[in-house]
Amino acid sequence: MPVRLHRGMSRLTIVSVLAAVAAGCDPGPPRPPIVLIVMDALGAEHVSHLGYERETTPHLDALAAEGITFTQAFSPAPYTQAGIASLLTGLLPGRHLVVHSGATLRGELVTLAEILRAQGYRTRGAVSNLNGSSALSLEQGFDSFLELFREGEQRERILPSGGPRPRVTRDDSRAERETLHVVRGDEFPPVVAGWLEEGDELPFYYLHLLEPHCPYQPPEEFRTRFLDPEYAGPFGEGDTKTLVQSVRGEVTAEAADVAAARALYDANLAYGDAIVGEIFDLLRAAGLYDEALIVVTSDHGEAFWQHDLWGHNLHLYDEMIRVPLIVKLPDGMGDVAPGTRSDALVSTMDVLPSLCDWLDLPGPRDLDGIPLASADGPRSLVLRTNHKEPTYGLRTQGSKLILHENPVAGSRQGIEFFDLASDPGEQSPLELTQAERASEQLDELLDARFLFDRIAQETAAAAQELSPNEEDLLDQLGYTE
Ligand SMILES: [Zn+2]
Repeated sequence: MPVRLHRGMSRLTIVSVLAAVAAGCDPGPPRPPIVLIVMDALGAEHVSHLGYERETTPHLDALAAEGITFTQAFSPAPYTQAGIASLLTGLLPGRHLVVHSGATLRGELVTLAEILRAQGYRTRGAVSNLNGSSALSLEQGFDSFLELFREGEQRERILPSGGPRPRVTRDDSRAERETLHVVRGDEFPPVVAGWLEEGDELPFYYLHLLEPHCPYQPPEEFRTRFLDPEYAGPFGEGDTKTLVQSVRGEVTAEAADVAAARALYDANLAYGDAIVGEIFDLLRAAGLYDEALIVVTSDHGEAFWQHDLWGHNLHLYDEMIRVPLIVKLPDGMGDVAPGTRSDALVSTMDVLPSLCDWLDLPGPRDLDGIPLASADGPRSLVLRTNHKEPTYGLRTQGSKLILHENPVAGSRQGIEFFDLASDPGEQSPLELTQAERASEQLDELLDARFLFDRIAQETAAAAQELSPNEEDLLDQLGYTE
């Protein structure tokens, strides 16, 4: 039986490989520590190593220089609930159905944390966004799940391993007394330091930072580094309210306002990146960084008035769905040169099947994601917006089709088809008769929508109501109807 020992393997890994050999079983690939970091609302176009003109992401850039960066990575949805659920299940939103606040993940679906826990990983999550939390049953599979926006005893959910998973039941009187807050990045390093002190043998750490999501209000040193000191308009506070008022037409956004909002978002991103750097330093100090498999990505992007809208949720243009995806494999795993860039069309749904592929773990069949290592061929990704009657779209390597069946305020009408080679900003939709590819893609999209409608009809609704305090917190993050 061939046993591959390689330079950089930790003592622990070598011991476990040798123990498996002694026991007469194939040890398979070594099990590395795994760290999955989501930076909420991080659009790929703002990332320095993906071509952005500002230096926003030195620590992500350094990670990319050591690992693989996917330049064409997309979330299947421009919003948190569906984007996070797709990342954690490898499924399209139309199949996991965590598609609005109040919807919950069905217990029979398998999450990445469940797969890893079954393999002996200690699974720990810490999250900043209610829309990626136990409010949607997204804690499924975690041994411990910290909801940093809560305080006191509601903050940590310790979940039993094995056996039926108890529903988190809400004590309404307690929920009303509960104080919730907008989480800042500096709450994360102490959490990670605490976990590392506990010395988990085989950790899976999942961290969902809020930065660069609005409000764009980083510490002053980041704000002054990016914002024009002469700017005195209404967007200078980086608050969510002004963005919402602008979408409603109550505040007008001139070019200087767009530049200011963008600068503050970049400042918030640079702050979040610095926090990620602190987390990497903690991993290094604990001796885990080199042997860890690290993934950094986002749940969706962010719009800066390219299509008359701020933020995310409601459109399918690339600024809302294209995200960074960086993978650093452990020393010795895979045959990939440091700093590799892949232009393959990939999705955040690919993270789960890729981890199963790299680590040779049994994963669920019939996923919508595919292993990143095999994502070279032609592909089309189905997209959906955050509406009860959603807009669907199809992204291929060179085109975008958007089917506006249920126009809402601010959205276009009919079908839009973009040739992204000639129109990467998606400003000039082609006549469908001009684009041979369009009718084929429309058929594919209609088939997908038909399937999703059937799944939604056949699936018992799983939902839990939000408390008034939880609704308030979502308001502060701009989740306003
Ligand atoms: Zn989000």
